[in-house]
Amino acid sequence: MSTRPVGEIIAACEEIFEDLSFAKAREWKAAVPGRKVIGYMPVYVPREIVHAAGMLPLGILGGGADMEVIHGDAYYQSYICRIPRSTIEMAINGKLDFVDGMMFPSICDVIRNLSGIWKLLFKDKYVRYFDAPQNFREEVGGVFYANEMRELRDGLAKLGGREVSDDDIRRSIAVYNENRRWVNQVYDFRSDFPWKAPSAEVYLLMRAGMVLPPEEHTLLMREYLAAAEAANRPMRDNCRVVLTGAFCEQPPLNLIKSLEMSGCYIVDDDLMLVSRWLLTDVPTEGDPIENLSRAFLLHSAETAAKYEPDVAKKGSYLIDSVRKRKADGVIFAAPSFCDPALLDKPMIISRIEPLGIPYIHIQYAENSSQMQPIREQSGTFADSIKLWSAS
Ligand code: SF4
Repeated sequence: MSTRPVGEIIAACEEIFEDLSFAKAREWKAAVPGRKVIGYMPVYVPREIVHAAGMLPLGILGGGADMEVIHGDAYYQSYICRIPRSTIEMAINGKLDFVDGMMFPSICDVIRNLSGIWKLLFKDKYVRYFDAPQNFREEVGGVFYANEMRELRDGLAKLGGREVSDDDIRRSIAVYNENRRWVNQVYDFRSDFPWKAPSAEVYLLMRAGMVLPPEEHTLLMREYLAAAEAANRPMRDNCRVVLTGAFCEQPPLNLIKSLEMSGCYIVDDDLMLVSRWLLTDVPTEGDPIENLSRAFLLHSAETAAKYEPDVAKKGSYLIDSVRKRKADGVIFAAPSFCDPALLDKPMIISRIEPLGIPYIHIQYAENSSQMQPIREQSGTFADSIKLWSAS
């Protein structure tokens, strides 16, 4: 496989990231008459079902750092997180006019309300509030979740005017299994050689996966890995941190860059969890919906978005990540007002403090512009970690 230089690959990803009109997704749709695009919000939806219906799952992750929100403020209180307001702004400004349907996963009340607003604003569009189970027993949550997915499949079949067969879903499961394997390889590579795969690059690469078809995104990750391995980049004297809490509204790209510049290599994170939510391959034999359901129940990332009835186990996913990635500390980075992330934090801190895992906490909005205080805080954090580990 011929490979572009790493800078060229990332420049292409950044163009996709900056483009709030989603030209790539529009091109995909226009290439074949009748194609449909289904948008989805964070944190998790089974993209395999959308893909199996011949449609493009399109991740909608807010308006980013530069978009001015005018209309969106009329729909929500001004003090809440920004992602619902900037998403409405994009819709009202016509940036999502080519999107045929939207899925709103059950992460919080804000997103639930957004699905209601969407139904009122865009009566001719397919809108689905996607309720994931919080009971993880197969005979309870499993039955419920499989039914949710069957309803989704049937709704998309009606929208697309064609049946979605089990074989269609099996093929899509295989496509996403492969995509997830490469996502994990990129994450492993960054953890092993963080100076060769800066977090801002990995972020842009994963953001491209929110817009591109999964097959194309897989090829892009393969190309990036080959180029990043070949690139000669200097190793910095940075400490290693896990970034957590940023699973929904996205931090500004400058925040990610600032953390690394201040002395923290991000060696794991919970950004765009939809790409890594399932922790194992989903079997391609047998009933594909049951397989997706079982993967969700039994082999999915334990995060703020997933109910953990046993408080003693809360935060185990993060602790495992700290150990696996040999991280020196944790940065809790949550969007302002984010209930799921901010409610989770004290429970997780009660687990990591006894283990002596250092942490700091920062809050952001997708349009935060003042990076200097964050840089000073994370820089001090990195310095103190180096001092402690040297003593
Ligand atoms: S940022 Fe947090 S509170 Fe806001 S929509 Fe996302 S999950 Fe909900």
